[in-house]
Parts: sequence; C-alpha cells; structure tokens
Amino acid sequence: MKKILVTGGAGFLGSHLCDRLINEGHEVLCLDNFFTGSKNNITHLLGNPNFELIRHDVTFPIYLEVDQIYNLASPASPIHYQSDPVQTIKTSVQGAINMLGLAKRTGARILQASTSEIYGDPEIHPQVESYWGNVNSIGPRSCYDEGKRCAETLFFDYERQHGLDIKVVRIFNTFGPRMHPNDGRVVSNFIVQALNDKDLTIYGNGIQTRSFCYVDDMIDGFLKMMESESGFKGPVNLGNCDEFTMLELANKIIKKIGGNSKISFVTLPTDDPKRRKPDISLAYNKLGWKPKISLDYGLEKTINYFRKSSKI
Ligand code: NAD
Ligand code: UDP
Ligand code: UDP
Repeated sequence: MKKILVTGGAGFLGSHLCDRLINEGHEVLCLDNFFTGSKNNITHLLGNPNFELIRHDVTFPIYLEVDQIYNLASPASPIHYQSDPVQTIKTSVQGAINMLGLAKRTGARILQASTSEIYGDPEIHPQVESYWGNVNSIGPRSCYDEGKRCAETLFFDYERQHGLDIKVVRIFNTFGPRMHPNDGRVVSNFIVQALNDKDLTIYGNGIQTRSFCYVDDMIDGFLKMMESESGFKGPVNLGNCDEFTMLELANKIIKKIGGNSKISFVTLPTDDPKRRKPDISLAYNKLGWKPKISLDYGLEKTINYFRKSSKI
C-alpha cells in the first residue's frame, strides 16, 4: 500500500485514476482547485478512509508526505485553457516546480501528464517521441503547448540536476464518462449536441484527423508507466492508433444516437493541428501496453453516461 498524490484528481482522467488506485488498495490524496474538475467525479470516494480530498492550487507550495505523485493538474480543453491563459501556463510551469520540489524533498517517484500538443501541428506522421514538434510560441494554444513543453524540460532538469525518479507520458486525445459536458472537446461536444437534437459543429472542413483512446486504456498506461523499471523515464506516447476524420466521428455519433441532428460547418480555430496519431511502439516495447478498447465500444459507454447525466 502506497500513499499517492493525484493532482487534478477531481478531473476527468484524475478521477478515474483515483478510482483505480483506491481499488488497488492504495491511500490516495486527491488535490484539485476545481477549475475544470468537479466534486461529482469523486463524491463516491469521499467516505472511503483511504481517500482524502485537498482543495489547493498547484501554483502554490504544499507540504505533504507521499510515495508517488501523478501530476495531472491543468485544464485540458482549448475553451478552458484559453479562458485564463496566464493561469494555464502558471499551472504547468509553477505547478511542475512545486510538485518536483515536493518529489525532491520526499523522494517520491513523479509522473507528468504531458500531451501530444508537444508535437504542435506535426510535420511527421504518426508522431514518434524523438520528433521535436512544430509549435507556435505566441498563438492562442501556446499557453498550454509551451507550458507543457516547459514542464517536460523541468522534469528532465530535476532528474539530471537532483536525481529525481521521473516518468513522463504524452497523452493523445482521450475520452469517456466524466468528461465535462461543456468542456468543448470534440467527443463530448458531438455527443451532447446529438442527444439534444442540435446540429454537430464541425470546425473547418472536418478532414482533420485525431485518434481517440478510451479512458480505461489510458489509466492502464499511467499505472504501467508509474510501475516501470527505474531507468525508463520516457517521454512515452500513450494513445490509440485508429485515426478518424472529424467528419467520420460526427457521422458515427449521429448514427449511434439517431435523432434529427445534421452537420454544420463553422470556422476552424487558429493553429488547429491537421493530423494526429501516435506511434506507440515505445509503450508496447517498454511497458507491454497497447489500447484494447475500440472507438465504437468507447462511444457507446460515453453516450450512455451522457444520457444518464443530469447535467445536460
Ligand atoms: P480535466 O480538465 O478534466 O482535469 C484537469 C483537472 O486539473 C481539473 O480537475 C482541474 O480542476 C484541475 N486543475 C486545473 N488547474 C489546477 C491548479 N492550478 N491546481 C489544482 N488543480 C488544477 O482534464 P483531463 O482531460 O482529465 O486532463 C488531465 C491531464 O491530462 C491534464 O494535465 C491534461 O493536460 C492531460 N491531457 C489530457 C488529454 C485528454 O485527451 N483528456 C490529452 C492530453 C493531455
Ligand atoms: N515545494 C513544495 N513542497 C515541498 C517542497 C518544495 O511545494 O514539499 C516547493 C517549494 O516552495 C519550491 C519549489 O517546490 O518553491 C521547488 O522546490 P526546490 O527544492 O526545487 O527549490 P527551492 O526550495 O530550493 O527553491
Ligand atoms: N472540433 C470540432 N467540433 C467541435 C470541437 C472540436 O470539429 O465541436 C475539432 C477541433 O477543431 C479539432 C478536433 O475536433 O480539430 C479535436 O478537438 P479537441 O478540442 O477535442 O482536441 P484537440 O484539438 O486538443 O486535439
């Protein structure tokens, strides 16, 4: 049994991670400032003696005694991370410094939730970890992309300078129950629109691609990375390799939900990556990890969640 800190623990991925760690018998400290997360995601854990909720902003120092840290605190959807860009970059950079300081003091192993946005609008496809990326440093997505890039730098500098035990995963688009219904990401947007008989908003012409990983697969990847051999730091890509255009995704969701929704085309946001798909050979070779859940199965589970959710 370990004492494990999950920052961003009341968010979409964080709350699923807390569930898994509690089920495995660990003591979990869930830290969140509830910017995009919700108490609803972790209410079912509140009575558990192995679970503790801490309302805190990672940009401020905090002193805790832990064995492992999963650093997930950061808004993830463009609408939210662009609504307060200065806070977004502070969360990535100052948050990483504080969590690395905590890991340095306690000797805890620390995992960073990095992102495929490290690759920006990629010029090579699929994306491998050795690719350095094509990122705009001054655009509306930069607060997130450059913040996450700087956090990776800090992780590797703390490792080189102070010998920290670090793990870095680069997460590609992940979806599932507990996504925020209004967080603007494509899967939740399309499902909520279709359930409400509204038209699905495709940004641009819809031929841009993404590869969608179901949340349970992603959490398996986090746990395997955290428990991996001590020399393996990453960064390692985690994501699904099945690539779809946004038009294909929209049509799939309309077909599954039925109703009268059509597709409406609206303006493409600035710097929207055109293609994205991970090369996951490193994760497979080092962690024995690859996703098992298809987009169709994952969408059905997610649609059921949004159908039952009182929030829409
Ligand atoms: P989310 O928005 O649901 O969760 C993020 C959580 O962090 C929220 O609970 C939020 O309240 C909390 N948070 C934000 N700023 C904070 C701060 N300053 N202090 C404390 N808590 C703070 O998003 P998610 O999809 O669960 O993403 C989790 C992590 O995974 C993020 O770091 C994100 O960048 C990364 N990621 C996610 C995806 C994805 O597709 N879901 C893809 C790439 C990377
Ligand atoms: N820190 C923290 N919790 C701890 C240890 C450190 O929040 O348990 C913060 C601390 O406030 C500092 C940051 O982490 O600002 C970086 O710590 P480090 O030891 O690297 O830097 P220093 O304290 O030497 O500036
Ligand atoms: N997108 C869309 N309609 C929406 C929301 C998003 O067409 O209602 C597009 C968006 O422009 C991008 C893709 O879907 O090309 C994935 O967007 P998301 O915000 O989910 O993730 P990210 O851009 O970070 O990969």
